[in-house]
Amino acid sequence: MAAAVAGFRAAHGTEPAGVWAAPGRVNLIGEHTDTSGGLAMPFALPHTTLAAASARPDGVLRLHSANAPGGAVELLLDTLSPAAGSGWAAYPAGVAWAMREAGLPVGGADVHFTSTVPTGAGLSSSAALEVATASALNDLYGLGLTAERVARLAQRAENGFVGVPCGIMDQMASACCTTGHALYLDTRDLTHRAVPFDVAAHGLRLLVVDTRVRHELGDGAYANRHAACELGARRLGVPALRDVAYGELGAALEKLADDPVVRRRVRHVVTENRRVEEVIALLEAGDARAIGPVLTAGHASLRDDFEVSCAELDLVAETANAAGALGARMTGGGFGGSAIALVPDAAADAVAAAVTEAFAAAGFRAPRIFPAAPAAGARRLPTD
Ligand code: ADP
Ligand code: MG
Repeated sequence: MAAAVAGFRAAHGTEPAGVWAAPGRVNLIGEHTDTSGGLAMPFALPHTTLAAASARPDGVLRLHSANAPGGAVELLLDTLSPAAGSGWAAYPAGVAWAMREAGLPVGGADVHFTSTVPTGAGLSSSAALEVATASALNDLYGLGLTAERVARLAQRAENGFVGVPCGIMDQMASACCTTGHALYLDTRDLTHRAVPFDVAAHGLRLLVVDTRVRHELGDGAYANRHAACELGARRLGVPALRDVAYGELGAALEKLADDPVVRRRVRHVVTENRRVEEVIALLEAGDARAIGPVLTAGHASLRDDFEVSCAELDLVAETANAAGALGARMTGGGFGGSAIALVPDAAADAVAAAVTEAFAAAGFRAPRIFPAAPAAGARRLPTD
């Protein structure tokens, strides 16, 4: 907080009107379902992006980030265009653009960002940046937007301005999560509810393992997965794979027998939605330990059916489970990024050590491992 204010002062030469925080996230279960209108269950990390900000009367966005080299970026709101390409500043500028596209009376701003969310690690630093910006502009210009609307505008910024065809899960997680809870999210209509997930109260720890690799086949591969899901839905005669009930899966797979790839993609999405329902039922029954095998089954499905895992993520899941985790899975888009492991307190150090050793033995870069308890979603920080 103090660093955010001091950074703002240094970058803009004035005092900020306020400071807004938005977290990164991990997804507990429900991966690659949000582009099929499916279910997900992310929770917010304690790591946040802070936006210290003030309104400006001249229609200029002056953006500065402690995490990006090159100093302040100045953009004129009236000339913002998705094709312009302004590096990291496209994320916050895209939010202002999306708000104006939606007819909202948003004007210029000075903003300084600081962040503890690792970037490019599958922990959604991009959504944290967008949601922090949207929260700041929402308050500075008295827009009165709900958290869901903030999330939608942030997604619109990333889709329409930055050019990343992401679903809505990351932005909803950053905007709507609450401390001590995961967020049960229906990505079709954005209905959501907080599900108690107080890991410490269950004698558990949730370890996040940042593999620190990102294999660059991502973009084309995601577009290809998305196309396969749409093709599957079309062939099954439903608007989206969300509409294939788990009980209808056998019949659906039979219809797709001539296309083994689409068949596997469909099986992932339908079983993954089912796993979200299983995890909710277990958490609401107070049985957090029992979700472990569901997480591990989710990893197998992403590895074998959706085919978005990689050697590093597989090694985390296998090693963590062999060393005493209750379950483990990749989280986020895949092809690198991060994995999570649910571990009993007593096994946490052994699991972390085993993963670190296995990475060294495999010749992989040392992973970054840290425990994370479900933290708060976006908010304005109190100033004193
Ligand atoms: P992830 O969301 O998993 O961290 P992305 O590739 O979606 O990965 O987003 C990472 C990008 O977001 C960075 O390369 C950078 O352009 C931008 N970004 C995120 N946080 C910040 C920040 N605090 N300051 C500047 N740019 C940021
Ligand atoms: Mg991102």
